[in-house]
Amino acid sequence: MFGRLLLILGMVWSPGLAASGQTGAEVAPEAQRPVMRPEMPPTARPDIPAVGDQPFVEKPGVEPDPPAWQALTESDASYLSCLFGLTMLGVRYTRLDPLTSPEDRDCGIARPLNVTALQPGVGIAGGATMRCATVRQLALWLRDEAVPVVRHLPGAPAITGIVPGSTYQCRARVGDGGEKLSEHALGNAFDIAALKLSDGSELTISPRNGSGDMREAVQKAMRHGACLYFTTVLGPGSDAAHDDHLHFDIAARRGGWRICD
Ligand SMILES: [Zn+2]
Repeated sequence: MFGRLLLILGMVWSPGLAASGQTGAEVAPEAQRPVMRPEMPPTARPDIPAVGDQPFVEKPGVEPDPPAWQALTESDASYLSCLFGLTMLGVRYTRLDPLTSPEDRDCGIARPLNVTALQPGVGIAGGATMRCATVRQLALWLRDEAVPVVRHLPGAPAITGIVPGSTYQCRARVGDGGEKLSEHALGNAFDIAALKLSDGSELTISPRNGSGDMREAVQKAMRHGACLYFTTVLGPGSDAAHDDHLHFDIAARRGGWRICD
């Protein structure tokens, strides 16, 4: 009798069991307890990284600019076309391995040439290292401007050689506070200190303002003619650093801007 009373009380306090129609005597004790799952250590769960061990996420960053010399690398087609042009102009050259400088990552030439003559019979004393496009413009200037202009000197001499100033050189621009890279550091520039002539004399580049002779006229005509072939032409009178040579370069500027000084 007492046991039956306990059973009735149990049904009253367990509505779920009453609704299912099960009696307390029919429910296994294990089924009433929550299932205990073994706890995995944090590091063993691949979906939840442990504190202090967050996965590395590469943030999208800004790619650094390529070195200035690398950005000027010619395409194969452009390079081969340029070399063909040099051959047609009679330029003597050898191809060199790429040039870079440990001093400045921007200095260098991807496909440098060492030039020993700009046309048959017109050598460059000691040779000069430049990009192909610079050599081509020099050879065109020599053939179409310098050679015919120099013929106006007494005795109509030919040009037999070029005495270079700076050629390839890893340095900043002169007279510019030393902040911007020189075109010489990219193989884009060539300086002419003098021309050797067939009469044995030299036409040395120097200030000739007002001398009133044919040498002044020839120097100025060669220099201004160079403005058609180079984007920068400097010389005596431009600044003190250019009083003893002509500076020619093929720097590319926005809008095709040229400096013809
Ligand atoms: Zn120069």
